Amino acid sequence: MINMNISKTRFINHMRCNRYAGLESLYQDKDQAIVAFSDDPDLDELMSQENKDKMSFLLDDMYDEEDQDLLSKVDTQMETMLPYYNQIEIIAGQAIDHRFEGKTVYSLDTYKQKRFQFEHQGYQFYCFLDGYQEDDKSTRIFEVKATTSKKFLDMKFKNDDGDRVGVFEYSPEGILMFREDLLGDVNDDYFKKTKKLKDRLSKAGRYIYDIAYQRYVFEHTNEQTKNHKYYLAILNSEYIHDGKTDEQGRPVYPDELIVFLDVTKFLDQMMPVIEQDIQIVIERLNALNANEVNLGPHCQRKDSRQCKFYPICYKKVPTYNSIFTYLGGHNGFKDTAGIKHERFDLLNEGYLNATDIPYDWLNRENNQLQRKVIDSGEPYVAKDKIKAAIESLKYPIYHLDFETFPCPLPRFKGEKPYSQSLFQYSIHIEHEPGVCDVDEDNYSYIATKHNDLREDLIINMLDVIKDDEGSIMAYNISFEKTRLKEMAIVYPKYAKRLHRMMDRLVDLMYFLRGNKKLFESLGFSDNQGFNYYHNDLNGSFSIKKVLPIFSDLTYKGMPIGNGTDALVTYAQFPFMDETTFKTNYNDLLKYCKQDTWAMVEILEALRKIV
Ligand code: SF4
Repeated sequence: MINMNISKTRFINHMRCNRYAGLESLYQDKDQAIVAFSDDPDLDELMSQENKDKMSFLLDDMYDEEDQDLLSKVDTQMETMLPYYNQIEIIAGQAIDHRFEGKTVYSLDTYKQKRFQFEHQGYQFYCFLDGYQEDDKSTRIFEVKATTSKKFLDMKFKNDDGDRVGVFEYSPEGILMFREDLLGDVNDDYFKKTKKLKDRLSKAGRYIYDIAYQRYVFEHTNEQTKNHKYYLAILNSEYIHDGKTDEQGRPVYPDELIVFLDVTKFLDQMMPVIEQDIQIVIERLNALNANEVNLGPHCQRKDSRQCKFYPICYKKVPTYNSIFTYLGGHNGFKDTAGIKHERFDLLNEGYLNATDIPYDWLNRENNQLQRKVIDSGEPYVAKDKIKAAIESLKYPIYHLDFETFPCPLPRFKGEKPYSQSLFQYSIHIEHEPGVCDVDEDNYSYIATKHNDLREDLIINMLDVIKDDEGSIMAYNISFEKTRLKEMAIVYPKYAKRLHRMMDRLVDLMYFLRGNKKLFESLGFSDNQGFNYYHNDLNGSFSIKKVLPIFSDLTYKGMPIGNGTDALVTYAQFPFMDETTFKTNYNDLLKYCKQDTWAMVEILEALRKIV
């Protein structure tokens, strides 16, 4: 049975591609589903047995023999952050209430939210509004998004004087507005930039599309006699928490945490788009065609909105050394005639493996190198560069790794929305080349409670990392560097030491992946490419991929085996009984310790190969 009710999420999913409706029907109704594999009913009739077989193959990828769902995945990070997302909705609701005139309707309970619904060609299109406000003359609709204003404030265009200015500006009343609506001084470059916002798959455009759907449903539900305004309610990326708490020690947030982005006029242009898309969705639901379609950006591969049917549609793409293995491949590949081929176009034409791409289409030096390694099976090592990098190290080396909690709401003084809140470090001290004991030379700190223990962590860390000349090694230093910089701002009394630490940071990933600045400073002029590549990297230099190449150590089977597990465990600390806490605390210690010990092992292995 096709579900005739279309929510916003369902609508957006059906807009992905022609196949989604057919797969969704199969996923819901299993062998009771009636789906097609072409747009021609007569052909489907003819092919009925073959279609049944196709259905059965697809169902095998959706459910196992015990009828266990193979597609549903628990997103633990999402679950952990859910209370914060809910809190954002409440804070936004209160901010609407304080800011605008009229009675505000907002609630975490969907059934208490304002609902609108209209019928079209037998389907019910409906929406629940995060915020709704009405007075005698006007209605205001709000869509709350747990994103930050940075996404919009960072959008710039070149004005007629050649200066880069914001696509969005604040009105004197503090409402974020499209420049066109506020100042009017826009040009072609502005329109080029705002065109991206009409792309429902782009990072900022997806929010505009969401509220455009809400508006369409709202305006087609009743006869509209009032003036309507539409706003996105988002987190203020410039808000810095002052550390204020209530009697229970919970942070107290002012209304300034929320920014209202007025999208009313921009949505005028989106209404014909939604109208057209509604027709597309209806046609897809009427057809329920589960036949294969081209893969593309609509699948939102590796995005938080990745399509649920990804494992089915991408089954044919090899997990190892596929076309996606080429770093920079999203920029496409140029053939010998200079014609650029987009990666998804090639994929849909059957270029699934990395080796399917002709070698002379690989214009990026690193891709040529990847290909040589794939073809030969032999790793590539730029021994001279790695050797020079190792020789530049100063001892003792402090191998450092931080674990953080990327909370949507700032929890402590000096934090912003989505600040990476420090809760753990691990350090291994390597006294001389190769002289480091996995246990005795390991130091660590974990904030066991959810109150602000950052200063404690810093004092503890500064006691371990002496103010000497020793290199401080991290893997992908921008993360560690930014945390140190943030802490120097929040705790000025340690700023000098923390800045000194930043100056001593060395990135082990640069030794492998290369880095122009570092290798230029070491006297290399040819410094663009990788210093190391191995088939098993499969296009990634993450420490989890690099480690098994150089060591027997593995993260597989560890109770906490990645950064997400770590932050989820930390988030659950206050709710654990003593025994569970002890086990999880030790698992967390082991995980972070492994990250720094991994650097010791990788460095030692590199010494041996150069
Ligand atoms: S994975 Fe891509 S092609 Fe498959 S149903 Fe989803 S959006 Fe469509």
